[in-house]
Amino acid sequence: MVTENLSIEEARETILAAVSLLPPETIGLGEAQGRVLAEDVYAQSDIPAYDNSAMDGYALNSAEITNHGTSLRIAYELPAGAVPHGPCPPGHAVKIMTGALIPPGTDTVVMREDTEEYPDSVIIHKVPKRYANIRFAGEDVKKGAPVLSRGDYLGPAQIGILASLRKPLVLVSQKPLVAILATGDEIIDLGEPMEQGKIPSSNSYTLIALVKESGALPIYLGISKDEKPDLIEKISRGRRADLILTSGGVSMGDYDIVREVLSAPENTLAFWKVNMKPGRPLAFGSLLGIPALGLPGNPVSTMTSFYQFARPALLKMMGARSLLLPKINAILACPIDGNKGDRIHYMRGILERRGAELSVTPTGEQGSGILSSMARGNCFIVLPKGTTHVDQGESVECELFSSLF
Ligand code: AMP
Ligand code: MG
Repeated sequence: MVTENLSIEEARETILAAVSLLPPETIGLGEAQGRVLAEDVYAQSDIPAYDNSAMDGYALNSAEITNHGTSLRIAYELPAGAVPHGPCPPGHAVKIMTGALIPPGTDTVVMREDTEEYPDSVIIHKVPKRYANIRFAGEDVKKGAPVLSRGDYLGPAQIGILASLRKPLVLVSQKPLVAILATGDEIIDLGEPMEQGKIPSSNSYTLIALVKESGALPIYLGISKDEKPDLIEKISRGRRADLILTSGGVSMGDYDIVREVLSAPENTLAFWKVNMKPGRPLAFGSLLGIPALGLPGNPVSTMTSFYQFARPALLKMMGARSLLLPKINAILACPIDGNKGDRIHYMRGILERRGAELSVTPTGEQGSGILSSMARGNCFIVLPKGTTHVDQGESVECELFSSLF
């Protein structure tokens, strides 16, 4: 029995239950941006590895400086990366550069700006605090401490920490392979002649971009005619995929064959239709034993359904912890009127800072074919079922699909 008219949560749970974490792979640290860690990382060494100077200045024994204007002889100079020539004798200071090892016999660094410098001696103008301007071994990360864990997203800072730990290779979850197929007799690809009644396949390219943005690898299978043999033949080229995404062919029309193919005995149709706007005609099941999501054809519906269902599935396969778009509340900049309120509505909005406040404005025309509403917007304004009117100045929940605001 095929379930119909699911809530978003029911639909998402069904989809997430059908996909699992992919096996890990080892990659070079330079390729790790945007991947999800598949191992726990403990510090094999202290960061920093040794006590070193945070300033260009003079390393000295703070017990010797009780008065302003104390004069010390210079024992030797110590550039960063050099090894101290020996302990600093009493009455002496070591001229030290930022990053250089703290020499034995010293416990404090006085910065150049607080001294008067001569070729063989230095006058210390300020009585320093003991341990001033020293970066201590392990003050950032202690040897043996847990640093990063399985499921952590690898961004620039995490990658920098792994480099500090001298880890050239890192274990991450594999990227899911996602087969993408557009459908429709009227749909043409880039390079095909434009004729009356044809529609360029924007979905092919938004889906390729969405898959990449989610951290997965797209395999583009082109465009299928609204005929079962063509659809089956083209899908069969994606047989090594971890997820199949189709666009179009899941509505009530006579030529909507994606759902029909999912319903064939060798495939499965787990559900059809979700109570959301846009994006009601969504079908989920399996093709060739691979989880398959039949996304609606209208471009805004395709994208909305991708963010609500395909992206969480891909992130689960990659072992990520948060699967949903980031949510934030904002003040509505103008009233929303005449919303039907029959299902949860993902309106497109423009979120911006106005003074200390986050304000959101609907992008205007909200039809499911108005792709420019996604292009102009940076978030969905989420109107729960039953919401027909929202006053200007009320707080509304937004889901961010772009961090540019
Ligand atoms: P369908 O569910 O197949 O009837 O698709 C609904 C509508 O979505 C179609 O009438 C097209 O206008 C549009 N559409 C379908 N596929 C695409 C595509 N690949 N690119 C852009 N628009 C599409
Ligand atoms: Mg169609």
